[in-house]
Amino acid sequence: MAGSRVSRRCMLKGAAALGAVAAATAATRAQQSGVAAPLRTAAGPAATLPARGTFVIRGATVLTMDPSLGDFVPGDVRVSDGVIVAVGRAVDTDNAQVVDGSGVICMPGFVDTHWHLWTSLLRPYVRGDVSERGYFPVTARLGVHMTPEDSYRSVRLGVAEALSAGVTTVHNWAHNVRSPEHADAELSAMRDTGMRGRFAYGPVQGMPDDEPMNMDGVARIKRDWMPGDGLITLGISSRNVGALNVGGAGARGVVTIEMLKRDWDGARALGLPITMHTSGTSPVMALEQAGLLGSDVQLVHPLLTTPEERAVLKMRDVRYSTSPAGEARRPASVGVIQLGELLEAGIKVSLSTDHTTNASCDPFGAMRLLFSLHQHRLGAKVPLTMRRLVQLATLDGAVDLGIAGRTGSLTPRKRADMILIRTTDLNMTPIGDPYEALVSLAQPANIDTVIVDGRILRQAGRFTALDHAQVVREAQEAALGLRAKADWPPV
Ligand SMILES: [Zn+2]
Repeated sequence: MAGSRVSRRCMLKGAAALGAVAAATAATRAQQSGVAAPLRTAAGPAATLPARGTFVIRGATVLTMDPSLGDFVPGDVRVSDGVIVAVGRAVDTDNAQVVDGSGVICMPGFVDTHWHLWTSLLRPYVRGDVSERGYFPVTARLGVHMTPEDSYRSVRLGVAEALSAGVTTVHNWAHNVRSPEHADAELSAMRDTGMRGRFAYGPVQGMPDDEPMNMDGVARIKRDWMPGDGLITLGISSRNVGALNVGGAGARGVVTIEMLKRDWDGARALGLPITMHTSGTSPVMALEQAGLLGSDVQLVHPLLTTPEERAVLKMRDVRYSTSPAGEARRPASVGVIQLGELLEAGIKVSLSTDHTTNASCDPFGAMRLLFSLHQHRLGAKVPLTMRRLVQLATLDGAVDLGIAGRTGSLTPRKRADMILIRTTDLNMTPIGDPYEALVSLAQPANIDTVIVDGRILRQAGRFTALDHAQVVREAQEAALGLRAKADWPPV
């Protein structure tokens, strides 16, 4: 039987209707039981997410990011029950819904490898030009007042923004897990929005540096939440080690190498990967001397590495995440983004947002900034192509997080995490080289469709199930509530 051809907008109606029904059912259940808010635990209600179906994206500019497959212009992608089952010039459309791919780029969703989602709703209080209202003072001062419900709303806001910007996997760097309920709330927000990601359980804002991390809490999360439906994995966010010299970074904790080893040993005993900021004095050699580096370690902010350290990182297969929007705001005295040096050394690098309190999520803008800074500092001395940048933002992120077998490219048998980007928008047309367009021209507003694990979560630039107005309203309420509790900052 030939598949029926439908427009992208028609599919939206169907998916939105499914989402609306599910949401109404959940609301009725809550009303009947007298429960004000859904249960935010691993045993909580199933999220109101669209069903996975069988569909074919037909006639798109397909960028697989799989070197063995290459690109198809035009090409098709067939998805069934969450899995990419075929990619090519013309795939079988039998028993499938057909989505018109003319005028769109079809590519893997972006993989964001370091993002403090719990800080999303602190955005109204952070100022880039007033030091006492910078990211560190605001998050340290208000973070201690956050309830689990605040964490839920903040993470949900961040994930909603991520999805709208084409991110289909996010590494939730959760360094304000104030209680078991806070951890459950953050995980619930990831689950309820349908995002793929890693939850990196971290220390609490303001905890003493001479106390070890709460590994019992981490073990409990592993027991209660993993493996779940396979979308969310678990790791830890580590405190920093040694002396720090970047404004405010010490607020996250600075521990001795002995304490750090204790935390990392605890994570490794549970089989969990580790992530750590390296702002300030580089800790690489101290970590190497303590025998702590390995392929389960992701470092963040590659600004001050030496050639000797890069050789160590390559040898130990350590990954490095760069967050250009924030890093480019730091004074050059604390280092520069060393993308060229890291790639030359053969180190696995990935791309991240870090936080959205003073820069919105924009993977296109991040790639553009990286390219500009690279050209500005190194130019042709270290060749960097647009395609390499798109790989950095997709497949390399999946490699960093250890999930490249599941996502990061449009490869048959991987899960279907993909985005459709309109090339007929005014800032994109007439379309030339698609990689050039993605890095030099594209914006999140060009994203038409976002699919995670085979579920169409956004279409025609709108959520299919998530209630945009509710996300905004509840984030605003929570932000105002935090300021009232802290009695700061002044209005
Ligand atoms: Zn960070």
